[in-house]
Amino acid sequence: MDARLPAITLVTGAASGIGAAVTAALVREGGRVVAIDRDERAPFDHPAISRYRADVRDARALVDIVERAERELGAIDGLVHAAGVLSLGAICDAPDDALRDALAVNVEGLWSISRALAPRMIRRARGAIVTISSNAGSTPRVGMGAYCASKAAATMLTQCLALELAPHGIRCNVVSPGSTDTPMLRRMLDGASPSELVRGRPGAFKLGIPLGRVATPDDVAQVALFLLSERARHVTLQDVRVDGGATF
Ligand code: NAD
Repeated sequence: MDARLPAITLVTGAASGIGAAVTAALVREGGRVVAIDRDERAPFDHPAISRYRADVRDARALVDIVERAERELGAIDGLVHAAGVLSLGAICDAPDDALRDALAVNVEGLWSISRALAPRMIRRARGAIVTISSNAGSTPRVGMGAYCASKAAATMLTQCLALELAPHGIRCNVVSPGSTDTPMLRRMLDGASPSELVRGRPGAFKLGIPLGRVATPDDVAQVALFLLSERARHVTLQDVRVDGGATF
């Protein structure tokens, strides 16, 4: 076990994509993961992963899971909120509830899981929190208004939390991925080639990816692990873009 990582980390959105890559990387390093997802399917299983099926929009369920997991496993010193939804559509054409849906998972889910776990971290005066936001939280996009607004809110919520928790020795940071090869991105591409993401599409305010490739989920997970670890002990309130230079 890498002693600089939390012994137990709670990961939301752990059944797919970036959350699954964070879970796998933590387990490879010898950590234990409390894995939450609304989807029962898991890409892999391991004795160090305790899976809980829950919707992050259900604040009560999150409180119950944290209570039960800590009673059975011990203190949860790390949190990675990776659960997220992407809604597409121009602001004037999107369904009425597109913004509400994006906020409910990407922001309120973060609000609820933080409020379920952070008071326990405060009592122990230790912990690290990482939010998987998006570079779309700081760069406007055509046809992604609800998503961009929700990610901007998630980033800001994490940074406000970082200020409130810093006196207790708890760090909170944001990882903002760009295009990353996950089921979410493949759904968005809907069969189109990822090479367009690399080249860019100025009409959609997408400038392309200078490093010339789409990220793997593990590219994002490695930065999340760094921020969770003691190697980042003097890093808090930061928004780290993992997007191959697509935004700055
Ligand atoms: P994904 O769809 O592969 O995985 C998301 C996971 O979150 C799924 O397992 C899903 O079941 C879970 N989830 C969604 N809503 C939930 C809810 N209400 N309760 C519990 N679980 C829920 O997507 P991904 O690409 O791995 O995305 C992970 C995070 O990274 C998201 O927050 C996403 O916005 C962000 N992100 C992704 C990209 C990308 O290009 N893939 C880019 C920037 C940011």
